[in-house]
Amino acid sequence: MAKLAVLGGSPVRPEKPWPQWPIHDGKDVKLVTEVTKSNRWSYDGPVEWKFAEAFTKYQGAKFGMCSANGTVAIQIALEALGIGAYDEVIVPGMTWQATAAACIDVNAIPVLVDVEPDTWCLDLAKVEAAITKKTKAVIVVHLYGCMADMTKLQALCKKHNLFLIEDCAHQHGSFWKGKGVGSLGDMGCFSFQESKTLSSGEGGFNTCKTKEQFEKLYSLRNCGRGYRGDFTHAMQSGNYRLTEWQAAILLCGLERLDKQVKLRDANAIYLNSLLAQIPGILPMRRRKEITQQSYFNFTFRLDLPRLKGITNRQFIPALNAELSTAELFEPPYDPLNNCSLYKPHTKARHNLNPAYWKAIDPKRFKIPVCTEATEKSGLAVHHMLLMGTKKDMDTVANAVAKVVENLDELHGYDPTGPRRKYRGLAK
Ligand SMILES: *Cc1c(COP(=O)(O)O)cnc(C)c1O
Repeated sequence: MAKLAVLGGSPVRPEKPWPQWPIHDGKDVKLVTEVTKSNRWSYDGPVEWKFAEAFTKYQGAKFGMCSANGTVAIQIALEALGIGAYDEVIVPGMTWQATAAACIDVNAIPVLVDVEPDTWCLDLAKVEAAITKKTKAVIVVHLYGCMADMTKLQALCKKHNLFLIEDCAHQHGSFWKGKGVGSLGDMGCFSFQESKTLSSGEGGFNTCKTKEQFEKLYSLRNCGRGYRGDFTHAMQSGNYRLTEWQAAILLCGLERLDKQVKLRDANAIYLNSLLAQIPGILPMRRRKEITQQSYFNFTFRLDLPRLKGITNRQFIPALNAELSTAELFEPPYDPLNNCSLYKPHTKARHNLNPAYWKAIDPKRFKIPVCTEATEKSGLAVHHMLLMGTKKDMDTVANAVAKVVENLDELHGYDPTGPRRKYRGLAK
């Protein structure tokens, strides 16, 4: 009789709901109703700017502004910095496809660089090796619950005269040496998509360092209009604004954010201390400069040589079965050189000429650490799991330990169906 739940044994945690995401309360409903009645529904309303100022301050940035979503936040950041046709932009090979897609949408060339095995964030030696005369910027992604060495990366960008753009879509409320993400580079880009740690269903945010940059970003998100009616500085652009309703949800969410980030961070530190004691399990690395770590996903790795040929392909369904978490545990993002949603060769407008077509082919980049993490060793789970109690963390660690202890049962177990059926929230 099998012990593992995925093979018919009894689960560590039978069906019992985990904390849900997103969260709202009576205040959200009240403010959304007020906005509805105010007849001020579009951009530049009082709630939007109240939120923008408060969020900018929370992240410790100089200037900040709402935008339509995280993808266009990156796009207009690139445009505001003057990055365009044939410029090279360094992007980590493991990230949501938007980080690279935004680059090709401004006709730049995303140069995919491999990540560190223990953070899945940019490997700085490989960043330096990828710099050419055409390189204009590095986009660092604060991925899942880890950060690259931001102090060294700042110095590297300065040395090579490159812009540093932070993709902060995963980490509202992360702080490096007491400084918020989004204030560490030239520009920061946030997403407020439903799954993210601060959410209005859809939405985005841009941070920057100078008034000139801010006014440029403002024009870019607002059909080219100059800031505060200054049309002498008008430029070409589209509509990348968000609504006053979204701002209302964000303002209420921001009040809860820091408490939630602290809860997740404390639970993650505790869970990592438990996982570190399980043979064959490798927690991710937390750099000592991190003063507060926000988690979009909690991640950890399998120490493959110690796991007798079992990979995340078998381990993930086994763990989900123990915890009744459906498909909540999943592999990390597909490496961008083999990603079903990163297909630069499918839009006519990206076919500038044969040389550019070749330059944006993701297959030309070697990113073996990304590939290994996705295909073999990596596990990722949505941050809602970190919003439970300390006892819930004990349960998670017990389930991981149980799968490791009964690894032999997984030999010959071949999970069927697509590797990842559904990215997102288990309801
Ligand atoms: C979600 C996400 C984005 C894009 O944000 P959207 O609001 O979905 O457009 C960009 N980068 C990363 C790392 C993300 O997770």
